[in-house]
Amino acid sequence: MNVETALVDVRVFAGGRLSPPRTVVLADGEITDRETPAATADVVDGRGGTLLPGFIDCHAHVSTSEHLRAMAAHGVTTVLDMGAPQFDATMALKHRPGLPTLLSAGRPASGPGSMFITKMGHPPSTGVSGPDDAPRFVADRVDEQSDYVKILLEDPRVPGAKPLRDDTVAALVAAAHEAGLLTVAHVVSAATMRTALTAGVDVVTHTAVSSEPDEDLLRLIAERPVTIVPTLTMMDGVVHAIGRKPLMRVLSVVVKDLRMDYRHASATVAAFRRAGRTVLVGTDANDEPGAPFHPAHGRSIHEELARLVDAGLTPAEALDGATRSAADVFRLTDRGRIAAGCRADLLLVDGDPTVDVGAAANVESVWIAGERVFSTA
Ligand SMILES: [Zn+2]
Repeated sequence: MNVETALVDVRVFAGGRLSPPRTVVLADGEITDRETPAATADVVDGRGGTLLPGFIDCHAHVSTSEHLRAMAAHGVTTVLDMGAPQFDATMALKHRPGLPTLLSAGRPASGPGSMFITKMGHPPSTGVSGPDDAPRFVADRVDEQSDYVKILLEDPRVPGAKPLRDDTVAALVAAAHEAGLLTVAHVVSAATMRTALTAGVDVVTHTAVSSEPDEDLLRLIAERPVTIVPTLTMMDGVVHAIGRKPLMRVLSVVVKDLRMDYRHASATVAAFRRAGRTVLVGTDANDEPGAPFHPAHGRSIHEELARLVDAGLTPAEALDGATRSAADVFRLTDRGRIAAGCRADLLLVDGDPTVDVGAAANVESVWIAGERVFSTA
């Protein structure tokens, strides 16, 4: 069924720049090292276009095949689900041919009785009572085939918060690493960022919006080999959605710490970049009723790329954060680059997104494992 495809006269995004026009041949779901296609190959003219590895959305929430299809149509071929309130629906979407590859954290860890359990629909068993309970939580995730461990950190200053203890977070990281799993921590304040970095989590996601990293935190960022998935699209949505609530407006006049400003989020991204840390592209696309904002599945990846460039990344760095770097951090060795033997997960766009990252939104075709799943032609 999978006939050979030849993309001819196409520039290829590789190592932060574009190659001269060349031919890329896809066969058996993979990128080949051949320049000469078979006579029967399906030929696609790539003149004036750029071929990119399919995007990896490093933070989304997916529960329907429509979510995945919308993402594919915008060039996303791998989706990293970061916590599945509708666990069964999400896990059933793994390994579906013709749809983006879905990996999932499954059920995330939080403090017993946290709002994630009482309001967001995660079961009580996902509350981790202390360091001794951490191996049990991680063993449950291994049984459920989670692809990494998500840890939800709550700022202890927020009224009603039920935060995980610092030593519990460290124990979760240790147990996850013992099981060979990466850890991703949800952080929304300087305090939770500090907890995550001190505990040695691999990836932090979101940013603070009420402060920028102080000297102490900058030192930690410089010391720890941590990656950030800032989800700037979501942070902007949160600032607008929550900042407008009457109670927050009154409180933020009195408590300077609660004043939310999107500029703190983009400044945090710039600080990570200056420290040499990897910045990845994640949208937090979701349609969970309890979420403060709902970035659209698929379309939001292009908004996120643009916001990262506004925050100081070069277009090539932002694109790298949705392709090669994302694959490297999440140990997806079969994708993220256009190289022989990699999965033929690709997108063809019109123009040069390394000059104007907005060109990445001019999606002409998308392939998943060599099968063209979207085309404007
Ligand atoms: Zn999320």
